[in-house]
Amino acid sequence: MIGASLLVIVSIVFLLLFHDARQQERAARDQGIDLVRALSQAGYDALVTPPARLDVMAIVREGLNNDAFAYLTVSNLAGGVQREFVAPGVIVPEVGVADLSTSMIEERHVVNDASGTRFLEFHAPLLSGRQVAGFLRLGYREASVLQIGELPFFATMALTVFLLTPLFYFMLKVEVDPLKRANEQLGALLAKDGENSTATPSLALPDMAERFKSFADVARERIDDLEGQRDELQTSLKLAAYQRARTESLLQSLPEGVLVLDETGVVRFANERTATLLRVPLESIIGLRPAEWCERTDVVAFLARYEGRLVQGHHAETFDMTHSGTAQRWVAATALPLMSRSDRAQIYGTMVVFRDVTAEHLARQGSSEFVAQVAHELKTPINTIAMYSESLQGGEGDSAEFRIEAANVIHDEVERLSTLISDMLSITRLEIGAMNIERSRVKLHDLLKDAFDTVARGARGSDLSFRIEVPREISAVAADKNLLRIAINNLLTNAVKYNRPGGTVILTAEETDDSIRITVRDTGVGITPEDKERIFDKFYRSDRPEVRAKSGHGLGLSLAREIVQLHHGAMTVNSVIGQGSEFVMEFAKEKGLIRQAV
Ligand code: ADP
Repeated sequence: MIGASLLVIVSIVFLLLFHDARQQERAARDQGIDLVRALSQAGYDALVTPPARLDVMAIVREGLNNDAFAYLTVSNLAGGVQREFVAPGVIVPEVGVADLSTSMIEERHVVNDASGTRFLEFHAPLLSGRQVAGFLRLGYREASVLQIGELPFFATMALTVFLLTPLFYFMLKVEVDPLKRANEQLGALLAKDGENSTATPSLALPDMAERFKSFADVARERIDDLEGQRDELQTSLKLAAYQRARTESLLQSLPEGVLVLDETGVVRFANERTATLLRVPLESIIGLRPAEWCERTDVVAFLARYEGRLVQGHHAETFDMTHSGTAQRWVAATALPLMSRSDRAQIYGTMVVFRDVTAEHLARQGSSEFVAQVAHELKTPINTIAMYSESLQGGEGDSAEFRIEAANVIHDEVERLSTLISDMLSITRLEIGAMNIERSRVKLHDLLKDAFDTVARGARGSDLSFRIEVPREISAVAADKNLLRIAINNLLTNAVKYNRPGGTVILTAEETDDSIRITVRDTGVGITPEDKERIFDKFYRSDRPEVRAKSGHGLGLSLAREIVQLHHGAMTVNSVIGQGSEFVMEFAKEKGLIRQAV
């Protein structure tokens, strides 16, 4: 490569010098011919006979100014030099007179035999009068392409080239190296693909082009292949997305909350129900750890068990999610590991199912409270009976007065027990659906009047007044006569029990096109707003002294409401403390069990 670069540079220099030499020769020729012509016109005498003419000398000086000028001679016909101007260091070549033209200006190349110097010579005959009297010769050094004087220049040039060549080489290498590497890689790729490959692939352009073409073919095949795979993949992806959407919608529509944690404890899926049960916005759950979105430390602790640990078996816990000022709520959480079907040791994460267990919890709580209440309610009359019977067996039994008192008390307590037990039985049966409603045509007026009279009769002697406003023509209804009577009786008994001296009890019934309303009003102690919320609960009794002064077991209203609801009716209460209460039973005619009996 160094040789090639040197050759190129030398060729360029040579061409430049050659061109330069041509230029010099042309210039010498132009000047030489002009000069010879001018001097020959001056004539032989003007050139050889002193004193020299000024114009002739001016022409001669002009010729001497040229750097290539070598000699100017004037000779006679015999060849004897009459006058001459010779540049320093030049030896005028010998020429025979016979070689000189006597008629015209001529040009020729002459060589000085001794020094070997070459000259471009112009010569012409010189006239004296009309006769040729002599010859004029004007010589210029021929410009040689390689001149000794320019050797330093060449040396400098060669040295520069020599020094620059490694630099060029380095630069070229830098440029070519990536190409070389690419070529090698191409070779390696093709070798992998089963194409023939040499250890070091040739850098020759046709080889590279061929290799590139093979590579392009292989690449095309690959691209076609990959495009096919991509289409298949896209179809699979669409299918997977569809299946995922279907699974998600399935999980979304579950009545339970579902939360999926990955093996590091980060939530990957949660349905709306989870967000509702845990009272957190759904969008703040996904992609985060429970500690980052859940304020309940017990829930976080439960979920954190699965963070980073692969827990086998399932765990369940119930959380009280009651918020202040809202109804009680319990949520049960069950966590199950998500195992691979083929390898049960491989666990992908955890699924947690949340379920609202408020109803079950309350029912469980209610049933144990119910049992406790029943035991308590039974204990009071039984204790009283036991106490009196013991006293009767003892000394006090001798007293006729005490025996009468004991008989009355025992009778009252047995009555109380029997009411309690029958109320409890009715309620339990109604609740478990064991009690069948025996519907019959009930004349509402007669039923209400009968119940009213019984209660009023029982309250004879009390300081209360009773009023009944039930239209005789009120429609007969289809209802369970005994149950309806229990409900009305309970309301009337309460109106008497929680009334005040001089108060009133009013029973009314009204009929509209759509409904029948039965109302029991009193002018008694009234009900506080807090009690109003709970008086229909089983065994609930107000703590107010005016209520506690009366005996009762807190089942009457609960039973009455159950009965009304069983007849598809509704029970409401209005009350003003100290002024009285009003209980309303309303039955829609067309849809209830209580309907116009024909
Ligand atoms: P009990 O009368 O045996 O206590 P009930 O179920 O009939 O049980 O009534 C529950 C509670 O409702 C009573 O303890 C009382 O506090 C309240 N209540 C019911 N009826 C009236 C009424 N007419 N006036 C005032 N308070 C009443």
